[in-house]
Amino acid sequence: MPTAELIAIGTELLLGEIADTNTKYLARQLRDYGVDLYRSTTVGDNLQRITSLMQEALSRADIVITTGGLGPTVDDPTRDAAAQACNTHNEFHPELWEQIRQRFLKRAMNVSENNRKQAMIPAGAVVIENPVGTAPSFIIPQNGKVLVCLPGVPREMEYLMQATVIPWLKEYFSLSGTIKARVLHIGAVSESKIDEMVADLEEMTNPTVGLLAHPGIVDIRITAKADSEEAANQMIDGLESIIRQRLGTDIYGVDDETLPQVIQKLAEKGTSPIKIILGGFSPDKFKYFGGKNLLVERLEPKNFSQIITPDPLLSSPVFTCLYTPTPELSRIDLHFSYLDQTDTMTREYMGAPGLREEWAVNFCLSFIRHQLISKVYPEEKNDPS
Ligand code: ATP
Repeated sequence: MPTAELIAIGTELLLGEIADTNTKYLARQLRDYGVDLYRSTTVGDNLQRITSLMQEALSRADIVITTGGLGPTVDDPTRDAAAQACNTHNEFHPELWEQIRQRFLKRAMNVSENNRKQAMIPAGAVVIENPVGTAPSFIIPQNGKVLVCLPGVPREMEYLMQATVIPWLKEYFSLSGTIKARVLHIGAVSESKIDEMVADLEEMTNPTVGLLAHPGIVDIRITAKADSEEAANQMIDGLESIIRQRLGTDIYGVDDETLPQVIQKLAEKGTSPIKIILGGFSPDKFKYFGGKNLLVERLEPKNFSQIITPDPLLSSPVFTCLYTPTPELSRIDLHFSYLDQTDTMTREYMGAPGLREEWAVNFCLSFIRHQLISKVYPEEKNDPS
């Protein structure tokens, strides 16, 4: 299986002025096509540093993909760096220059002499025409390895990757494998407890199981390598069902599913409106709730003492979630009542102060979901759809 490295080029990326979404996108693409990604680096717009980084990366990996720095100005050194790194020179491509001119003409914009630079491509490179922008890109094959230079604008980069680079790499490296991943989300169970429950599965090599803890939530990531997407998905399905047998309804969602979405969905299916009384949380928390069947009310901290006394006549579920941060810890007091059922829970968290409210929010959401599926809509327990 070929190995890869990514290089994000741009001083604004290096200085954190813009977020590097290209690396994230490319990392996922490579994973899906079974390429092992070993390293990703960010470098400013400096010819020497980019050149030496390209050389280093090519000495280690089979595929090196860069994004950015293909514009027409002196601040765009990628094509010169690529030519130097591969011991070649840039050549003028009249047909690319004509395409660039036509694109400017179509938009009634003046093409400048600077733009000629974008028609310069390292000798020996495979040209990737760019129908969605002005910067043509290229692939330089070098002693069985390849240097791929793509534009920085995400929309252009993604288009060229899909339309040209992936099919080209598949052919060149005879890529047939694929790596797929699925993430299961669990709320309000500690990482150590989950670790105990799946410890044997964490020893496996393919598929693999890994844990990632967030405040109040733990993710279990299942990753499989196989010859086809279907085979990888089957491997993941098998392992997911083993994990579900062990963790049951503690798993609240898969991949992009979030706790608020799950609760909102449960509420929309139900007939009686759910009331959630919140106290102590910042105003931006729980803002996503509302609409059909979800009523949110906020309580002033001075009124915390009036934590709802269960009213046996209440025909709709009511939750009270009070958050009390102190300098040492955060505390939540949770209460639930519905018909003749009630439940109360208090928890404290001594994790990093910056994470305490996030923990409290996630713990409350897990409590709400748990009560809803066990006492209000028990029929949903076995229907995760
Ligand atoms: P063009 O010639 O189309 O400008 P380029 O290759 O010169 O392309 P850059 O000038 O380096 O690209 O970047 C253009 C814009 O693309 C940046 O201003 C930024 O908004 C975005 N961009 C660049 N690199 C990244 C990245 N790694 N992640 C997200 N956005 C990026």
